[in-house]
Amino acid sequence: MYDVVIVGACTAGTYFAGLLAKRGLKVLVIDRDTEESLAKRLDIIHFTRDSFKEFGVEPSGEGDEEFVRDFHVCYGKSALNNHLKTNYINVAVLHLPLFIKRLRKTAVEAGAQFRFRTAFQELRYENGRIAGIITTEREEIPARLVVDASGISAVVRRTIDDPYMESFETGPRDRFYVLLKYVKLKDPCISVVDSTSWPYYKGWIAPQHTPGGAIIGVGANLSFDYARKCMAKFEAAIPLPEYELQYEEMACTPYRRPPFSFVTDGFLVIGDAACLTKPINGEGIPSAWVQCTPAADVVAEAMKDGGYPTKEKLWEINRIYQTGEGAAYAGERAMLIGAVNMTEADNDYLYKKGIVFKSDDEPEVENLLGALIQGVLSGAFSLKALISLASSTQKGEALKKHYQAYPDTPNGYPVWEKKALKLWKKVGSMADTVKDA
Ligand SMILES: Cc1cc2nc3c(=O)[nH]c(=O)nc-3n(C[C@H](O)[C@H](O)[C@H](O)COP(=O)(O)OP(=O)(O)OC[C@H]3O[C@@H](n4cnc5c(N)ncnc54)[C@H](O)[C@@H]3O)c2cc1C
Repeated sequence: MYDVVIVGACTAGTYFAGLLAKRGLKVLVIDRDTEESLAKRLDIIHFTRDSFKEFGVEPSGEGDEEFVRDFHVCYGKSALNNHLKTNYINVAVLHLPLFIKRLRKTAVEAGAQFRFRTAFQELRYENGRIAGIITTEREEIPARLVVDASGISAVVRRTIDDPYMESFETGPRDRFYVLLKYVKLKDPCISVVDSTSWPYYKGWIAPQHTPGGAIIGVGANLSFDYARKCMAKFEAAIPLPEYELQYEEMACTPYRRPPFSFVTDGFLVIGDAACLTKPINGEGIPSAWVQCTPAADVVAEAMKDGGYPTKEKLWEINRIYQTGEGAAYAGERAMLIGAVNMTEADNDYLYKKGIVFKSDDEPEVENLLGALIQGVLSGAFSLKALISLASSTQKGEALKKHYQAYPDTPNGYPVWEKKALKLWKKVGSMADTVKDA
């Protein structure tokens, strides 16, 4: 009998297993893939170097097999390529499968167990309560807590029929289909050492591991075909350095609001299975860890002395996340829908004035509405864009406030959920802004 069984052995499940094992829990992580093929769908990932310290992960550096390089500046450019924003941030470039291998080593050292080629089939119940899982081989694995870390497919969460757990599928309107081109630049004098993004096209160019190489990426709702169309539009609009294609990667990331509750009796959902990604750039690894770190303490407390982790005992996981990162990301996600729903010229004006998109050394625009109205009067910003941005900002603020008032116990949840649903309905989805699919 395990205390906890975690379904999914990538960045969320493996990290969380290490945290729980360190707190003395008996943890098993299963994954349907083999150890060798795990996470092979993606090679290079980038994330902020501060995350290592913040989440207690030993920093990767020179000499570590997963480490590629660091960079220190992220540039953002406007749709017409006229304005540049500069943000200083230390970013680590790593090989994902090798990084997961290192996370696994830490988790194993703490006492967590891993089993590969083992796939989740269904939940196991005792006296009507979740009490472990059953694999596709019909093996029963009893556990007091089941954690879904199965990524965007959320294979466990989607089987649950419970008013405190949403079983939605993350469909084409709720995903970003990401197309990555690994390229070798033709001009040996050009090297891509920092990342530059063009949020209007949801496109970017960033460093990779081979000398003279770069990654050109685009993310789009609906399908890989549409992402390819967006890539063509991006490359036609923005003069990128000439290149030879090495190979392509295609994968999906969730782009929707997370479930309103991550817990119910005997169950917790984390990572991509809980749609925890950063709205502005899709970064998912640290977003999941923001939830995992306090969750480990709450789980350890809920399960001490052999106790069953009821939703009441686990509720603090919801409250901590939703009132913090959850509130900030809900507001940002809503606002971004309005911020991208405009013309190239409108987007250029936002960059020019440092509205939404600004450099670290630029002051916040004090009178936002005034600056937008001035743009409309001068003909540089359309009235339609002003209405779109003002309305999405207002909806984002309302959502943020609502998340900050997340209920302290499950008792307040049904009323909170009802209002949250209404607010999100008004916000709509990023997919609503697609006009040329
Ligand atoms: C193209 C692309 C580039 C990205 N780049 C970055 C980046 O640079 N930085 C960043 O922070 N984030 C990035 N992300 C997001 C990041 O990759 C994800 O947020 C993160 O990998 C999610 O981790 P996870 O552990 O939640 O899920 P996953 O990595 O999806 O892992 C889920 C695991 O569950 C297993 N599983 C599924 N079903 C079952 C089953 N039935 N039984 C057993 N096991 C099962 C799978 O085999 C898999 O190993 C990117 C995403 C994409 C698509």
